[in-house]
Amino acid sequence: MRAVQLTEIGKALTNADLTIPEVGSSDVLIRVAAAGICHSDVHYRDGISKIDRLPLTLGHEIAGTVERVGKDVRNVYRGDRICVHYLVSCGSCEFCVRRLEQFCRSGQMIGKHRDGGYAEFIKVPGANAFRLPDEIPFEVGAIMMCSSATALHALNKARFKPGESIAIFGFGGLGFSALQLARAFDCGDVYVVEINHAKLASAAKIGAIAIDARTADPVEQIKELTAGRGVDVALELIGSAKTMHQAVRCLSPLGRAAFVGLTADSMSIHPYTELINKEVEIIGVSDHLATELPALVEFARMGKLRFPPETLRVVDLDAAQINAALDALQNSIDHVRTIIELASDE
Ligand SMILES: [Zn+2]
Ligand SMILES: [Zn+2]
Repeated sequence: MRAVQLTEIGKALTNADLTIPEVGSSDVLIRVAAAGICHSDVHYRDGISKIDRLPLTLGHEIAGTVERVGKDVRNVYRGDRICVHYLVSCGSCEFCVRRLEQFCRSGQMIGKHRDGGYAEFIKVPGANAFRLPDEIPFEVGAIMMCSSATALHALNKARFKPGESIAIFGFGGLGFSALQLARAFDCGDVYVVEINHAKLASAAKIGAIAIDARTADPVEQIKELTAGRGVDVALELIGSAKTMHQAVRCLSPLGRAAFVGLTADSMSIHPYTELINKEVEIIGVSDHLATELPALVEFARMGKLRFPPETLRVVDLDAAQINAALDALQNSIDHVRTIIELASDE
């Protein structure tokens, strides 16, 4: 089968010709229809995120059809349209039995610790395959398995409830999904904090209150617009100590700040005035859970989570095209997502 692999850190991906994986009793073989190209893949290629073995087929945002089914798999059948949960977990450790598989001691990420979806076929445990309704195109099924799933997990971790207001710091792929999902939860006002003009304009176009962080302190702006109250929930999706602090400061009493963006920097807060006095919470968010994916798929099926065609770009399973897409992602300032398309729905 054809695949595109990382063979050397810091070098371009290359085309490879591999044998189709053998399927074990609990596995399924998937004929890949679409695989999303993610910013994480840039980090793997460039050595910013460490990977364990080379060569490696990248790609953790995958949708396709079930080609072969191991004898013990009960949840999907040959020919089913499916999308893939990218975290492979043991199923038996103390965290897996509580369905908190992101802490599995032997967890493996598809496309990082084991071969991913930049290939004609991929083998995954049957438990990682989720049915994809006919209404959802393969392209959307693939890309929603990463940033949209994590945005949903962030809202769940923040215990976001109908009617609550929310501030979203950062309007990239995560923020774009978070805004739509907050709406799907019947949220109150949504404030999007950004410094990029095009992103602010696109947030405003879909009904958010745009907060331009270049013009004035975003916390002051949010406080002014909420008569001094602040918001119930703040999502920090950028990964900056400065915006993390802002996310805490813009909260109302009993507010929750969920931190999703990564940074190695430290942040400091004033414990009394910013935390204790208001009983606010700071919550860490890591990846997402298999148990959250059925709700995510349903939001997409109902059209509450959507990716307009102008935000999707398609390339072939070809190293040169994929490398060009990874290069473009490094400087990306828009919502355009690139997807490797191997088979369309038509
Ligand atoms: Zn991703
Ligand atoms: Zn486990």
